[in-house]
Amino acid sequence: MTEAQANIGVVGLAAMGASLSRNLARHGNTVAVYNRHYSRTETLIGEHGDEGKFVPAKTLQEFVGSLTRPRTAIIMVKAGEPTDQMIDDLADLMEPGDIIVDAGNAYFKDTIRREKAIRARGLHFVGCGVSGGEEGALLGPSMMPGGTDESWQTLGPILKTIAAQAEGEPCVTHIGSDGAGHFVKMVHNGIEYSDMQVIAESYDLMRRGLGMEPGQIADVFDEWNQGDLNSYLVQITAEVLHHIDAATGKPFIDIVTDQAGMKGTGTWTVQTALDLAVPVTGIGEAVFARGLSSSPELRKEAEQKGLSGPEPQAILSDLAADPDQRKAFIEDVRQALYASKIVAYAQGFNEMQEGADVYGWKLDMGAIARIWRGGCIIRAKFLNRISDAYASGDEFGSLLFDPFFKKAVEDAQDAWRRVVVRATQAGIPIPVFASSLSYYDGLRSKRLPAALIQGQRDLFGAHTYGRVDQPGVFHTLWAGDKSEIRQD
Ligand code: NDP
Repeated sequence: MTEAQANIGVVGLAAMGASLSRNLARHGNTVAVYNRHYSRTETLIGEHGDEGKFVPAKTLQEFVGSLTRPRTAIIMVKAGEPTDQMIDDLADLMEPGDIIVDAGNAYFKDTIRREKAIRARGLHFVGCGVSGGEEGALLGPSMMPGGTDESWQTLGPILKTIAAQAEGEPCVTHIGSDGAGHFVKMVHNGIEYSDMQVIAESYDLMRRGLGMEPGQIADVFDEWNQGDLNSYLVQITAEVLHHIDAATGKPFIDIVTDQAGMKGTGTWTVQTALDLAVPVTGIGEAVFARGLSSSPELRKEAEQKGLSGPEPQAILSDLAADPDQRKAFIEDVRQALYASKIVAYAQGFNEMQEGADVYGWKLDMGAIARIWRGGCIIRAKFLNRISDAYASGDEFGSLLFDPFFKKAVEDAQDAWRRVVVRATQAGIPIPVFASSLSYYDGLRSKRLPAALIQGQRDLFGAHTYGRVDQPGVFHTLWAGDKSEIRQD
């Protein structure tokens, strides 16, 4: 019988699990570790066993036996069926009050389902979003745990030991019950897609529009990283653009295929937003842009068929040739990036609010913004502003109504509009810049053409409409004498 001595355990010791275990051990936890194939456990202990206290287990029974109560086990195995299997296997060996944590990238509805099933067996189930990749897991991730308040009592102090720190605060907070943590992690990833796409659109405008070299564009991103746009993604963008391919001596960016991959969390964010009827246009366009990039046959056929359009550099040659105009355009792009980024966050926070209402979570938006300031991929100085907006106590339906962000977008909008016009004239795709601006304009429009859509719907499908001058539900007898009848 193994002596119970570990205050936490990790199951699954591939990239993420091994890094998380080491992080836990380095911060004073005694970490039970188990992997289906023992070789990974041996490698971890052989290479990093001296970093802290590990309790390696050859069987799951041994692993569970080595945990102190309430037994707390973090699952870091392949998402989907293997995770379901591991949850069941652990639940069979654990006892009421014990805590199973799924720290993989689970779909929040799976987490709601799993939590319900595990709760029925008297155990706690925590779906925990983890951002920061392998390096974050080792050096300090941003973590978004769901589950019960009771499980947070045990888990919170442990997670706080390993989370990233931002301005002296750990980047982890109890997000809410059942699937709340994975929901918030999903939206985080959606915002990440949008953030990456607007950076890519900015690059394209400088590269194809102004004809700048990757190294010159890298310098621009380095400079932007000193101001309002200071963020991990802008920083790594500069790093990627500075990089030279050793094999060819060419800029790295030029030897990489232009087909962006995805693992599905962006798609989930958009699918969920569609279900909730929340427009997340920036995130949606970012996911679609990856889809278009990854349709090589379609793009090849478009090239063969000679789909015509403007030549970017020919259209923007006046800007490119004149140093002052060029500088001014680059500043416009920076502002367009900033404004589009604000819209992406505003939309993401709206999705979280709607999700909270529908799924019964009390999400602390300010706290969520704070735990995204460190450890995760979208970490940025900007998140302090979001946190301040929510901490102000003002009620607002969109971040765009907060005085700081309202002014920031108003100040940026002339530049933003110029960029959208110039890019469109030059034939450079800017799906997120353009859709974010349209969203902004839609939001501020006193009257939308939706009235016409209501008219069309009533004509072809008798779907009825409301009137601006009186309450009630109306239908016009379009095929008859076009008189109006009340239907409520
Ligand atoms: P993988 O997703 O590559 O999964 C490999 C691990 O799962 C191995 O430990 C493997 O064990 C185990 N495994 C696979 N099938 C089974 C099974 N049927 N039963 C038991 N164990 C099984 O590992 P990662 O470390 O990349 O990711 C782990 C989780 O973290 C995933 O859910 C992933 O989505 C999530 N995640 C990953 C991030 C990343 O940047 N990689 C970031 C954030 C979350 P064995 O060695 O025996 O094959």
